[in-house]
Amino acid sequence: MSVDQAAGKLPILIRMSPADNVAVVGNSGGLGAGTAIPDGPTLLEHVPEGHKVALRDLPKGAEILRYGEVIGYASRSIPRGSWVEESLVELPGAPGLDELPCCDKVPPRMPPLEGYTFLGYRNPDGSAGTKNLLGINTSVQCVAGVVDQAVKRIKEELLPRYPNVDGVIALNHNYGCGVAINAPDAAVPIRTLRNLARNPNLGGETMVIGLGCEKFPPESLAEGIAAADILTLQDRHGYADMVRAIMERAETHLKRLNDRHRVPCPVSDLVIGMQCGGSDALSGVTANPAVGFASDLIVRAGGTVLFSEVTEVRDAIGRLTSRAANPDVARSLIREMKWYDDYLENGQADRSANTSPGNKKGGLANIVEKALGSIAKSGSGAIDGVLSPGEKVDRKGLIFAATPASDFICGTLQMASGIQLQVFTTGRGTPYGLEMIPVIKVGTRNSLAEQWPDLIDVNAGRIASGDATIEEIGWELFKLILDVASGRKETWAEKWGLYNDLCLFNPAPVT
Ligand code: CA
Repeated sequence: MSVDQAAGKLPILIRMSPADNVAVVGNSGGLGAGTAIPDGPTLLEHVPEGHKVALRDLPKGAEILRYGEVIGYASRSIPRGSWVEESLVELPGAPGLDELPCCDKVPPRMPPLEGYTFLGYRNPDGSAGTKNLLGINTSVQCVAGVVDQAVKRIKEELLPRYPNVDGVIALNHNYGCGVAINAPDAAVPIRTLRNLARNPNLGGETMVIGLGCEKFPPESLAEGIAAADILTLQDRHGYADMVRAIMERAETHLKRLNDRHRVPCPVSDLVIGMQCGGSDALSGVTANPAVGFASDLIVRAGGTVLFSEVTEVRDAIGRLTSRAANPDVARSLIREMKWYDDYLENGQADRSANTSPGNKKGGLANIVEKALGSIAKSGSGAIDGVLSPGEKVDRKGLIFAATPASDFICGTLQMASGIQLQVFTTGRGTPYGLEMIPVIKVGTRNSLAEQWPDLIDVNAGRIASGDATIEEIGWELFKLILDVASGRKETWAEKWGLYNDLCLFNPAPVT
């Protein structure tokens, strides 16, 4: 990256690659018409923060280059110094999946990073939690109201007696009945539910509340689940008896969870999810590269990083197949892209549906530009594995976990895959949070950090203003991950109790 910047509050234009013919405005509030960029153009009009400026005259049809890649074609002649707004950028075709590069740029293994640990809760299956939670599973949405009331009373009446337990959560969802449970794609929501019950933050304690007539059998949620841990509401005598039974069973689990304490764990026990939401054109300049640097540190320390969001990597897929550790990984990446292409086609949607109005307002012209910024979260290492939606992680290192880009669905699927903490980058801003795991929010621009000082945990906007480097923010984030995983620091979302719902990905028919 070259930051064409002098000092102080002088105009900031950020170019990601020497080949680029556009650069992004880094100043809060944008830059006005007539602003002279040192060694660059004079702006012909006002250009908002995060939006692109033409560095040279671009004739109609010219390639528009950012990150050294074609993000689109000029829809008309664009003079040097113009605002290259969305309508001037014609979307290129999606890269084909049949002749992608394969393992031709596999990065060498990075040097191991020694000496870092976190304090976690050791589980019977060998995994470690960053929280010590009781999770109350449900087999169908019908029971959600009763379970919510039971959880409320457990928190008020039982939890004070079990101070080592961090909380009680209801795993409510919209699946379980009225769905084609035997359809091939039903495997996705079903394995998601099963794997959510096994998330390391739930301490290996499993109980399920069912209704009694639903399609999804409660006993199929977990292998070897004790009969006493399955409560069926249709077997109870009224509401009060339902709540009493749930509270009674919950207490047996609370007793066991309360006997646990945090113990030193190696970073190799960590599985960290990376996600973005409400992205802008600075996402790929500040927050995502800093998150990528932290991803490299986690992998170097022996840990595991999941990155996701198929529609946000689809247009940069060649960069990922190049980094695949072996041909199997490259084939699995292509398999997941093909599956999603078909899924979108069946719904008569295409990849251009991904970019939101907020993305565009933030300066992202289209999905190609968004994808090139999005994959920066994965860092620079070799890609060691690929998971289909909701599959449990089965190896260490850098993993592509296929999910939709939807913040809540991606979060739910990554938790099923086994993450104990998520890092979430945002440019436009979202109060997003998850109850099962801590979420560290990284903002892309100083103006968001100023607007939301009590929601954004890390301000990567300092990279654009020249006040910090990608490496500095990356280290800051790595250390914060270890502090939050250890319970030494809490995120803003945890402090305020901001939690989004579990949202299953169900590509199968609803009946
Ligand atoms: Ca997202």
